[in-house]
Amino acid sequence: MPKHSVIAWMTALGKLRAKEHLSRIGIAIDNLCVMCGLQEEKIEHSFFKCIFSQQCYVKICKWLDIQTSPMDHINRCWRICKRKFTTKKKRSICFAALAALVYQIWYARNCAYWEKSVPWPDVIVNVVMHNVCNRVRQLINEKWSQDWKVWLESLVRRLI
Ligand SMILES: [Zn+2]
Repeated sequence: MPKHSVIAWMTALGKLRAKEHLSRIGIAIDNLCVMCGLQEEKIEHSFFKCIFSQQCYVKICKWLDIQTSPMDHINRCWRICKRKFTTKKKRSICFAALAALVYQIWYARNCAYWEKSVPWPDVIVNVVMHNVCNRVRQLINEKWSQDWKVWLESLVRRLI
């Protein structure tokens, strides 16, 4: 999923253009978050602290069977994934899910900005889960262990 990775990488570097930046250069009228309308839109808010993003993270973590608290966000998810999943494949699935989620949040944010409609978190989460499952299904081969296939099947069963 290269597009997801690029967005995740750009987010890490804080390079995405939030309204904070657009309002500074005079393009946006206000600098409120287009998803919640409650706080100033900054990269950190959009991806980590916005109630919309947090609802999505909690759902994705539940799907991946990762314990979360309501105030958790993607960085903590990633640390928990690394601790909980000791195999490279499971970690890479978790990372793919989190990267896909960041991409979908950014996509949803742009739809909200340009089309003035905010999707339900379930819609975003559903897209992420299906993308990840479809991608992983393409990679399955006879060398995969039974344990690994069972884990993957459990993820597919828990799709919304
Ligand atoms: Zn917000």
